[in-house]
Amino acid sequence: MEVNRKIRLGYHSTKLRLFSVSFLRDCQQKWWWITKTIGKILDDNAMVKKPRGVKLVSFTIQQVLIPASQGYATVDVQITGQQITAIAPHLEPLGTIINGQNKLLLPGFVNAHTHSSEMWQRGSIPPVPLELWIAELYDFTPLDLDRVYLSAVGTAVETLLTGGTSVVDHLTLIPGQEFETIARAVQAYKEVGIRAFVAPLIQDESLASGMPDGGLGKKDEDYFRSTQATLDILEAAVKAFHHPEEGVNILPAPTGMQLCSDALFKGCVELSDRYNLCLHTHLLETKAQAMLAQEKYGRSAVAHLQDLGFLSDRTSLAHCVWLTDADIEILAATKSTVVHNPLSNLRLGSGIAPVLKYLAAGVNVTFGCDGSASNDSQDLLEAIKMGSILHCVTDIDYRHWITPRKSVEMASLGGAIGLKMQDKVGAIAVGKQADLMLYDLTNLSLLPKTDPIGLLILGRPTQVVDQAWVQGRHVIADGKITGIDVESFKQELFAKSQWESDRPSPMREQVEVHYRQVMKLPT
Ligand SMILES: [Zn+2]
Repeated sequence: MEVNRKIRLGYHSTKLRLFSVSFLRDCQQKWWWITKTIGKILDDNAMVKKPRGVKLVSFTIQQVLIPASQGYATVDVQITGQQITAIAPHLEPLGTIINGQNKLLLPGFVNAHTHSSEMWQRGSIPPVPLELWIAELYDFTPLDLDRVYLSAVGTAVETLLTGGTSVVDHLTLIPGQEFETIARAVQAYKEVGIRAFVAPLIQDESLASGMPDGGLGKKDEDYFRSTQATLDILEAAVKAFHHPEEGVNILPAPTGMQLCSDALFKGCVELSDRYNLCLHTHLLETKAQAMLAQEKYGRSAVAHLQDLGFLSDRTSLAHCVWLTDADIEILAATKSTVVHNPLSNLRLGSGIAPVLKYLAAGVNVTFGCDGSASNDSQDLLEAIKMGSILHCVTDIDYRHWITPRKSVEMASLGGAIGLKMQDKVGAIAVGKQADLMLYDLTNLSLLPKTDPIGLLILGRPTQVVDQAWVQGRHVIADGKITGIDVESFKQELFAKSQWESDRPSPMREQVEVHYRQVMKLPT
């Protein structure tokens, strides 16, 4: 509890700076777009209802650049309560005034797949394949609840400071303290103010089961907890913490086909149906997993998951590196979302996900950082850049390559679609919730003045977020996180960790013998 108290204390020292009002009139361009927007305001304003007895906080972002169909428009954007209520070249000032001059307003991005507690091991594990990497991760995973809280805070802070207003945390659970683990992560996300999709990482098969046998006759141990007990924990978490209206969501999220039984997948689908929840899992991240799928199911894991009812428009699938063309057709037909984690896939040698094929087939694709032990950061803008330009080497036809504007759409609207939130977030439009990022275009890394979105995505933006809002709540003000004291947080991280290198990992050494044999590597 001490950890939380110290971090929260600094919050009150953060004050919002009110900017003077300026009436720069430079909107003569893009009239067609503005007319369209005003028309939409008239159409949509009827949807904005003020709850009885609730005093709604309003603010107006004045003279800010937003992307138009071609180029940019300079507009005022008004927010009342959680919603964007008006967008027009000039609006009557309402509530707090935010100076948007020389700033770019974009919808918040989604960090659509990560594992917060891996923060404690970032930079530690050498570059080895996932199957060996995860063995070392397990060797050093022992966590306590304070660490769970702190790494969730860190994940939220780094995601927010690099453009993300939502995070999907495939959260590692402490055995015996599963419910408490989820509670502490939820607490962290609420304090920092990011929109959270907590997806408890559950499995019902042992780690050794995740490796193909290859005819070698490996022995798999029973998992320590029954499938039903795992589902019971998940249901308790849903009842306690799933409050979408407050920005906290729980997702049934089996680790992946490599560590989960059909019964666990089906149980998650049942929970999803009963409580209207999105689903999440890892899918065919490595070549070894594709081999395992053939051994386990005698067919593609994608076809198998489809038959289990796991794939739908409420399902997001992390990695998707080793899919066939037939698998891609299934993803398109089921409207499943692919979460592209390029840095992790490179770091672990997993491969390059066929993202251009997904896009060509009409599959929704968005971006994730993946956990900090396989990235080894939570810089969402970096993941988006890498996840975009990586595919220029996979297709000689440059007309298929991902443009910066497409990257922005994938990271914002694509992320929202993957979480069935596209009606609420993912775009700057009247009636949408205000999950917004305001970038400072006078920052050195965004200068000189060229194409703001082009430089944000293709450059190396550094500390460029000036303001951010989640559900209309001001979560970054003047470049600083408002919900917690980041200085105290850094001190806690420092105090609770130590420098180390070349740590021996008995479990990795044990797994490596089988891995090299089954992957036909020299022993
Ligand atoms: Zn992952």
